Amino acid sequence: MPIYEFECEGCGAVFEELVAADVAAPACPECGAERTRRLMSAVSAPSRMPRGAGVRSDESRRREKVAARQDRITESRKRRAAGEKP
Ligand SMILES: [Zn+2]
Repeated sequence: MPIYEFECEGCGAVFEELVAADVAAPACPECGAERTRRLMSAVSAPSRMPRGAGVRSDESRRREKVAARQDRITESRKRRAAGEKP
């Protein structure tokens, strides 16, 4: 869930709220006015890891490495099995 910055239209206070994107703007914590508007800057929550394309590509690269290693192990096993046969 992203943290959004809101600005109160009543008193001009700027505050941060952790809200879902489709939830209505929260009331101002300073004066209680419900006329607040969301500022454009969305800050991702610091406790969350980014889930971007970079993370996904890293994961797929790791999976490829594991698959390649397993291929090599299978190949060497096959070769050993073939060599042991009379
Ligand atoms: Zn206010």
